Formats: sequence, C-alpha cells, structure tokens
Amino acid sequence: MGVICDGVDDDIRNRLKLISALDKYNRDCSNLTIIPTLDCNFRCTYCYEKDRIKPVYMTDETENALIEFIEQKSKGGKELRIQWFGGEPLLAYERIVSISRKINKLNINYESAIITNGYLLNLEKIELLKELKIDKIQITIDGMEETHNKRRPHLRDHKTYNTILNNIETLFDYTKSNNINIKLDIRINVDNQNKKEYSQSYKELKLRFPLAIVYPGIVKNDALTTDRCNNLSCAFSRKDTSEFYLEQYNTSAEVGLDYYPTWYGIAGCTATRFNDFVVGPQGEIYACWHNVGDDKMIMGNIHNGEVISNHILFTRFLEGIDPFENDKCKNCFYLPICGGGCPYDRILNKYYGQHIETCTMHKGKKTLEKMLEIHYEMKLKHKPENIGNITI
Ligand code: SF4
Ligand code: SF4
Repeated sequence: MGVICDGVDDDIRNRLKLISALDKYNRDCSNLTIIPTLDCNFRCTYCYEKDRIKPVYMTDETENALIEFIEQKSKGGKELRIQWFGGEPLLAYERIVSISRKINKLNINYESAIITNGYLLNLEKIELLKELKIDKIQITIDGMEETHNKRRPHLRDHKTYNTILNNIETLFDYTKSNNINIKLDIRINVDNQNKKEYSQSYKELKLRFPLAIVYPGIVKNDALTTDRCNNLSCAFSRKDTSEFYLEQYNTSAEVGLDYYPTWYGIAGCTATRFNDFVVGPQGEIYACWHNVGDDKMIMGNIHNGEVISNHILFTRFLEGIDPFENDKCKNCFYLPICGGGCPYDRILNKYYGQHIETCTMHKGKKTLEKMLEIHYEMKLKHKPENIGNITI
C-alpha cells in the first residue's frame, strides 16, 4: 500500500520473488550491448580492461551473424535497446554505422546509447547520431583538467580534457540548433585520489553544460580494482562511499548526488536478464560488461547454432546468485531495493572465492537515517508544497 513497514513476511517476499522472475525472463524486450572493438585510444591509470585492450575489431562476417541474431531477437515487434561499448567504440565507428544502417532496414522498434571517452566525438560523428538512433551518451571525466589529464591520457596526447569538453560543446550546439533530443551523462570517476575535486568539477561541468546529467562513478573496492589501482587504497569501500556522500552534502550542498536508496529494477542488470546479452567483436557472448575480453566468462557465440554453450555460467548468473535465495539478503531490510548488489561481484564471491562487499552504502541505521534526512531536506528545499506527498 506504499507505506513503510519494518518487517517483511513470507508472502511479501514470495510476491517480490515472483515479480523479479517475471521481469528477468521477460521476452518482450531485449538489451544488447555491442562491443565493436576491444581496442582503446586511452590508457587510463585505473582501467580494469588494461590487459584486455587488443586491436580486435568486428569483421563483416561477425556483423552479418549479429544482424541475423538481432532479427531473431526482435521478431514479433519486440523492443530492442542497444548499448555501444568497448574498448573505445568510436574507434570502430564505421562498424557502428554499418550495423545501425542494417538494423534500420529491419524496420524494428529500437533505440541506442553509447558509452565513449568522448575524444573522437567530432561534428562528423555527431551529425549521424540521429540516423544511428543514438539518443543517450555517457562520457567520463575524472576531475579538474590537470587530474583528468593525468588519469585519462590518450595514447599519444596527454591532454584529453579540452578535446573532450570541446566535443561536448559541439554536441550541445549541434543538437540545439537541429532540435534533436540527446541525453548526455557525464560520469566523474571518484576514488580516494581525486575525491576532493569532485564538487569543483561537478560545478564547473554544470556551469558549462547545464543540460548534462553529472554524477559520481564510485571506483569500488572490488575484485576488479585489485588490477585497476596501482595502490588498492585508492578505491572506495562501502564506508568510504557513504562518508563521501555525507561529506559532499555537509560541505558543498547539492552536487548531483541522490541520497535516497536507488532501486535498480527488480530483475537486476543485463547480467541477470534472460534476454539480455553482451556481444564481443568476435561474436562471443558475455553476461556482464566487466567480463568483456575475459575468456573464462564467455557463455557462447552468435556464430554457433545454439548461441549459449556454457550453460553452467549462464545459469549461475540467472539462478545461482538470486538474492531471494540468499539467506543474508532474503531477510534483509534493503531487499529488493539494493537488488543484492552487483551480480558479477556475487558470482566472484560464490564461485571464485572472493570476499567483495556487495551491500548498499546505506546499510547501517545511522547512515540510513542521515541520508533520509538529507533526502527530506532536499525535497523540502525544491518542492516544499509537495512535501506531504513526498515521493519515496
Ligand atoms: S553484473 Fe555488475 S558489473 Fe556487470 S553489468 Fe551488472 S552491475 Fe554491472
Ligand atoms: S544490503 Fe546486503 S544483505 Fe541486504 S539485500 Fe543488499 S546485498 Fe543483500
């Protein structure tokens, strides 16, 4: 009934589990993440894909197999969402154009988004975004100019900051003058080395690009960061994350942070949905974005008749780590809001002997109380007349 209660009984839990399963196995919508290349033009200091950057590009043969795969997936008017990811996807821009034009001819209901470092996003590419049906772009900035340039250098150009920001400016100028709707997310990767710059960086970016959504991408202390940081202490633990959030509010007020526990969807992410796949440049299939280039996490290949061949891995992601089956999670106050944490982290904990923190940063009575108070204060400040109907 939309009221807060302090206990979850079996009936509620079973209902949530059923809703989660229906969503997870929904066949009407498919999310496809396409990796046209494993190559990258940046050498970020913390990159977890560092050892996997290879000049591997999708071939015509794989492109054709991919189109067939997409045709199958979209039969009967199903909805398709495509994410272009890499490596750096704009290094394989011609491939993105070619695939998109073929999908356009299939006459299916689809939309797409791209995650790029933004360095190659020039006017020529921006002019084609509409035809490619790309209406959402995510670009990462790592703080103020000097810090960003140190952390996110190009292979041959150590000053990437201004190039990226100029490209963003061109993007907004072009879309405004052509009446095109584009959503730009600027993610500021934050860890212990650059956290002090976050608010300044946020404010500077919002001043220059008021229409962009700017938010922190927390570099977490998980299995990936063991390789990612030269010094593991740079990554945030759960406690570091909540302290960072609270400190931002105390010192800088509103800087793009959401203090209310965010619900990521009951079926989890692309890794735990039956009909969602990540397709690599050789047609290989993964469950999770972070698995790209990791041979032991390949679940199958679109070149094969039966696309999934590693049924053990496939089933582990779908059923093996279900938080509704986990003793710790199923009795926890935060389920289903936190979703049990990142599914890949749960795979690593359960099947690969890791001990990664999966719980939400809100966990802990005092932390939750403080964050809810901030959430309330922010609501009150923006819409005091609606506070009686506060949306939670
Ligand atoms: S499993 Fe974790 S890392 Fe992989 S896509 Fe899902 S949330 Fe992201
Ligand atoms: S907060 Fe931790 S124990 Fe609770 S549901 Fe999330 S992951 Fe599970």
